[in-house]
Amino acid sequence: MRLDKLSLRDFRNYVNLEVEFDPGVNLIVGDNAQGKTNLLESISYLGTGKSFRAQRTSEMVRFGAEFAELRGEVFSQEREQSIRWVLFPNARPRILERNGAKKRSASDVAGVLPSVLFCPEDLMVLKTGSSQRRRFADHVLSGLRPNYEAALTEYQKILDHKARILRDKEEDMSVLAILPEFNARLCQVGALLISYRARFFASLGQAAQTYHREFSGGLEEFRLTYKTVSTVTDPFAPVEEIRSQLEDHLERHYRAELASCQCLTGPHKDDFDVDLNGISLKSFGSQGQTRTAAISLKLAQRELMAKQWQSEPLLLLDDVLSELDPKRQDFLLNQISHGQVFITCCEPEKVTTGKNIRIENGNIIG
Ligand code: ATP
Ligand code: MG
Repeated sequence: MRLDKLSLRDFRNYVNLEVEFDPGVNLIVGDNAQGKTNLLESISYLGTGKSFRAQRTSEMVRFGAEFAELRGEVFSQEREQSIRWVLFPNARPRILERNGAKKRSASDVAGVLPSVLFCPEDLMVLKTGSSQRRRFADHVLSGLRPNYEAALTEYQKILDHKARILRDKEEDMSVLAILPEFNARLCQVGALLISYRARFFASLGQAAQTYHREFSGGLEEFRLTYKTVSTVTDPFAPVEEIRSQLEDHLERHYRAELASCQCLTGPHKDDFDVDLNGISLKSFGSQGQTRTAAISLKLAQRELMAKQWQSEPLLLLDDVLSELDPKRQDFLLNQISHGQVFITCCEPEKVTTGKNIRIENGNIIG
């Protein structure tokens, strides 16, 4: 799949932009704060209806504008297609059109223009706190499995409600009467999440292992381990079995949850670990090893998505090349010899193939 043409109107710092892209490598060059990341954001938003940086849709509408419009002409699923979004600066619902017909939700364009974004923060994902790793995994898995995303949203809703019950009981103990019902639903949906995650981490880990092995010249064996609630003995077990094991754990922590007024147990605390030749990367990995493993994970993500959609997703590299030494740059660039790629950077000399697009203050120059 590829994005042939992009038009933006009042999106971020772009008043009006029309740009045609190369089917291979597109190098987006410009000084700081000119709109390079904004351009990647628009490309990623087109295909997913999600922003990797905005908290609210309204942030993407140019300051003072009545609406923002994004339009992409795409070659995907063996035909020309178009996607159009209109975003508003207020609570008015966004508009989505696919091939000129109004659509209700982003899932109506799922698979038309999927993309993988790689930014400098991703390079450290294996070293930082577990919430970033969870966000990464949830994001990728949601893109692959819409049912997972629905279950995750449901789980979060129940969890928020349970957190409110635990807080409110300080004022009124009677709210505790509904807690068992919430715990039961939490375990039911939670078991489903664990089941999805077990399968996802197994295939992600396997693909990443192959990339990492190749990159380290066969010297380092990458192994990813999914870590979930301790009573779950086998995350591949039938969902019903996982559910009852989650209930066991919750029961054991019942008093602690009441005392702390917090939801202490469940898959919202899940994490994953990577070790190289049996040594924990998080605790002992060098900077270089951490970066290589992160690149392997991203390439693995791209591979899983390519399998899912039977076509290579776009690869969006935001400022990562400047963070990598020449050896890692070469490895990454060699792996992206197929599919469409968008690379932002401040100096253009790093990549010599493809189309150069120079951005200045929301305009293309040259
Ligand atoms: P860097 O090299 O530093 O990463 P960049 O070229 O990636 O820079 P962007 O993040 O794409 O820069 O663009 C940042 C600019 O966009 C900022 O100057 C910011 O003020 C502007 N901007 C962001 N949102 C909006 C908006 N809604 N309306 C107008 N301008 C905006
Ligand atoms: Mg940027």
